[in-house]
Amino acid sequence: MSENLKEKLFTKRECGWENLEEGKKEEILKVSDKYMAFLNKAKTEREFIKEAKKLADENGFTDIMNKQELRPGDKIYFINREKSMYLAVIGENNIEEDGMHIIGSHVDSPRLDLKPNPVGEEGGFAYFKTHYYGGIKKYQWTTIPLSLHGVIVKTTGEKIEVNIGEKEEDPIFTITDLLPHLAQDQMEKKLKNGIDGEDLKLLIGSIPYDDEKVQEKVKLNILNLLNQKYGITETDFMSAELELVPAFRARTLGFDNSMVAAYGQDDKVCAYTSLAAMMGLENVKNTAICILSDKEEIGSMGNTGMESHMFDFFVSEILNKLGINKPNLLDKVFCFSKMLSSDVDAGYDPIYAQVSDSLNAGYLGRGITLNKYTGARGKSGASDANAEYVAWVRNILEKNEIKYQITELGKVDIGGGGTIAYILANKGTDVIDCGVPVLSMHSPYEVTSKYDIYSAYKTYETFWKE
Ligand code: MN
Ligand code: MN
Repeated sequence: MSENLKEKLFTKRECGWENLEEGKKEEILKVSDKYMAFLNKAKTEREFIKEAKKLADENGFTDIMNKQELRPGDKIYFINREKSMYLAVIGENNIEEDGMHIIGSHVDSPRLDLKPNPVGEEGGFAYFKTHYYGGIKKYQWTTIPLSLHGVIVKTTGEKIEVNIGEKEEDPIFTITDLLPHLAQDQMEKKLKNGIDGEDLKLLIGSIPYDDEKVQEKVKLNILNLLNQKYGITETDFMSAELELVPAFRARTLGFDNSMVAAYGQDDKVCAYTSLAAMMGLENVKNTAICILSDKEEIGSMGNTGMESHMFDFFVSEILNKLGINKPNLLDKVFCFSKMLSSDVDAGYDPIYAQVSDSLNAGYLGRGITLNKYTGARGKSGASDANAEYVAWVRNILEKNEIKYQITELGKVDIGGGGTIAYILANKGTDVIDCGVPVLSMHSPYEVTSKYDIYSAYKTYETFWKE
């Protein structure tokens, strides 16, 4: 009796892996296989956008700049400086009255960037000096294999693409750390001070240039090798964007193959699943928009970040090419739009249970997590979704039997975080954060559940089809 009452009244908190219907597990694993293959080709924002463009081109999307006019069913995209991208499938409904259904993620991830003057020599070694990007625990980035990705642009405009350390035959790079035998002083330090930002120096070579007279022989030898390979000089690093990312590949984790371990899952897990869901869309009612933004990890600023007006420009171009634009229409369309800000959530980690409120934590394997609000210290900085909108989202998930959990990022006053949600919310759009729970977030090797990856994919597909 009381069991029945409990069944009726309590929120269900079930593990998605239990009671799966026939064939479901294979479907779940298939989505993750494609995701891992994509991740291995797309570790940086530029690489992600390059792969996304390929996928979009294969699936009948075209650059909006090449279209004169748009009509329902058209599939378009716009690429912003090779680092962010907006895609759209034009819907049947009137965009002026029904707005757009937007899903927005980010494709940048925490990493180490090379400084503009990176090359140095000390004690017989050549180094690249770095400046970290986004929130990292610096000690996690020493003594692991790192690969170098990015571009060097010469004054002629020639762009050299760099990708070293991913292929088996490539060399890798690393940042050294002190042996425990001599680390007494270091070990007494607070964890956050254990490794200095300036000490994140990448080891890149040790053979001196064969000439008695010259100074900085090892640096000279490295620059000579780079000159032979790429035709560059030390000065060309000034106009380069070179990023160090873990050289690990995305792998299946666990005896039961249930999880994914990979670098950059924040937020490429949401970026990939939304992109993949968009590729399968046909004949949507409402105009479906997929945002793959850059610079989220450093505050969404800059002309490739979500704070820039590039997205407004894209939507204005849609309105122009639909032939319906008029004063204030852009503002109106935003006000009638709905958005899932698709970004990852902190997964409940039993080893660090003390930071989570167990009633409001996101558990791996229980499906997509919705964050009504993010922010810190009394929700500061959060866009806090309206109850009416949360109910609308719940309804489409429940109707389509998609498992979801409503969560908070950690206990009150323990810390906090944010996403791009507030940026669209400030334009008048209804927004809720919606993503995949992650363990070891912002580390070189983040962990997700394949069940949640699948449920993100289903959620995004459903939201656009609604
Ligand atoms: Mn994120
Ligand atoms: Mn992040």
